[in-house]
Amino acid sequence: MAVLVPHRFEDLLRRMYAEHATRGAIYDLEAREMWHGASPGMDLSVVDHGARASTGVGPAAGPHAQLAQNILLSWLGGSRVIELKTVQILDQLEIPRPCIDVQNVGFNVEWSQELLLEESLHEYVHGWYMVHAAADLLGMQQDARQTLLDVSVGYSLDGIRSDAVRRWLDRLRHARPLLEAAKAGLPKELRARVDHLEPAEEIYDCVTLSTFHGCPADEIERIVTHLFEVHDVHVIVKMNPTLLGYETVDGILRGRLGYDDLEAVKHAFDEDLRFEQAVAMMGRLEQVAAKKGRALGAKFTNTLVVKNHKSFFPGDQKQMYLSGQPLHVLAVQAAAKFAEATGGRYQLSFSAGIDRHNFPDAIACGLVPVTTCTDLLRPGGYARLPKYLKELEERMKLAGAASVDAFVHAIAGARGEAWATPREAALANLVAYSKTVLADPRYASEKNRKIPRRIGSHLALFDCINCDKCVQVCPNDANFSVDVGAGSFTAPRLVVRGGEVEVVPGEPYVVKKERQFANYADFCNDCGNCDVFCPEEGGPYKIKPRFFAGKDTFEKDRHDGFYVERTPDERLVMVGRVDGVQHELALDDRRGRATFSDGVITCELGLADHAILGKTLGAPVDAESEGHALLLWRYHAMRLLLEGTLAGHNPVSARWSQNRSRVGLDR
Ligand code: SF4
Ligand code: SF4
Repeated sequence: MAVLVPHRFEDLLRRMYAEHATRGAIYDLEAREMWHGASPGMDLSVVDHGARASTGVGPAAGPHAQLAQNILLSWLGGSRVIELKTVQILDQLEIPRPCIDVQNVGFNVEWSQELLLEESLHEYVHGWYMVHAAADLLGMQQDARQTLLDVSVGYSLDGIRSDAVRRWLDRLRHARPLLEAAKAGLPKELRARVDHLEPAEEIYDCVTLSTFHGCPADEIERIVTHLFEVHDVHVIVKMNPTLLGYETVDGILRGRLGYDDLEAVKHAFDEDLRFEQAVAMMGRLEQVAAKKGRALGAKFTNTLVVKNHKSFFPGDQKQMYLSGQPLHVLAVQAAAKFAEATGGRYQLSFSAGIDRHNFPDAIACGLVPVTTCTDLLRPGGYARLPKYLKELEERMKLAGAASVDAFVHAIAGARGEAWATPREAALANLVAYSKTVLADPRYASEKNRKIPRRIGSHLALFDCINCDKCVQVCPNDANFSVDVGAGSFTAPRLVVRGGEVEVVPGEPYVVKKERQFANYADFCNDCGNCDVFCPEEGGPYKIKPRFFAGKDTFEKDRHDGFYVERTPDERLVMVGRVDGVQHELALDDRRGRATFSDGVITCELGLADHAILGKTLGAPVDAESEGHALLLWRYHAMRLLLEGTLAGHNPVSARWSQNRSRVGLDR
């Protein structure tokens, strides 16, 4: 199973500073792809349960809000309300892989955090710190910095009341010890760079509750009461689209939108919270919230559980969760129905098929925050976020509005309506939008059938069409590019014959392109998304060179891969499993030599011309050794990767590049 291994805080920071200093980018997001604040005179800020955020957009609790670099990248794109990936008591889940299919509309079979609770805690603290460090590094204006983190918890009363989750919530809420420990663990030069930063120690004061399909109504109510009374937070209840009832959902999904192949799972509707129950429950919980001086809100919506009629996910997955365009229509209907029934008195947050086109619509409906996931999994990735805010600005300017409240009024005004408060205008906008969105062809099946194009070729370790999509679509920034010294290299084989090592000429090893692509396996959870968008066959995360943080994770994995380590005598070496055979490469710049070994044959080569300077048999010769071959194309592959990786900005160099003179890379 793919296990995510977070970076050390110092590696996260080191990479950010180095990458920005060298080329103005941060975690592969170019400066032009970041959001640098609203245009002069425009105010995109929203108020979220009494606190102001510079924008109303953010990642939904999901793959873009799990690792520290996810939080940072979301923020760099303009997210200012970041809903952290749902935590729960069961923190050692087996998630089926692949787990994300956004070929067109969007399906998944993943759910809560894949890290241990303790790891999530540190990732969220590191992400929070990174956001502040990035704001400082970029010289971000104060009015563009206001950022809120929302915690998302699931899924049962017992789990949320458990000591582990209770303590987790407390430690993140009052995070001074964690923030200080993070800073104290930094090397001196990095500590000096963040010493003046003052990230708020109360990292969150709002919790979104996520429950499973079928969670009884009284349990949801008791969890929310527990969150108010024990944790003293604002609470948002995430609603399911099943609130609309099976007939309505099916009528929209298949009847209206034409997704004939999709079948909602009927029993989920029978078991889930009913609409009337939800309205009544919220009324009772409002009183609990009022007693605590806290706010109660609702989120529209969770994904819709549908039958798995495809072959993308493992065969034992009988159902899957629908997101994207069709869910947008359903979630808007559910939100509008609920808002009308409750007189628009609850703050509603939103997540369902949000993209740059409908983000301004959602903002005009008073939805706060408006979160996104499926769209960010498409080419462009986090760089799609600033376009949401650009589109909002354009629509605001068209409407003659310079603030979100003015925009809400202006949209209602365009229908000839004048409302006393933004909340009333927002409710009217939401109801109006729920009607127009039903008839909007961009959400219909016909417009959402296309799948990403394949070109017929198959990926190999090196060389591909260099489209860059695998880097963009990975939520964890696990794929990265590496500049290598492309060329044609003499690549003989060293073969054991009669107890000696013979040099046998081989085909030249050809690497055509300077720019190659690699994967950092410890950030990769095998979600499959880069395979969906790669135009070549095979899956970048499986075929491209895979790097591990170290021996531990490398040895737990069965497939080919590499790691860099420091030997007791302070040399950096690269260990690599190529075609299942383990090799070790050490470069010695002072002597101008490389040592390359597979444990049976060890070879010394000149670094300048790659001439063979020596060859030895490392093990006693026996019958099995006869015919054994050390293939020197693997030497070239590992050498190019080691040099290229450490010279660039990526998860490997974040840890080791400062040692690169030891492997001769500063030649
Ligand atoms: S590298 Fe590919 S499979 Fe791995 S997490 Fe990223 S998108 Fe998913
Ligand atoms: S591996 Fe695939 S997605 Fe990545 S750059 Fe190459 S062709 Fe594009």
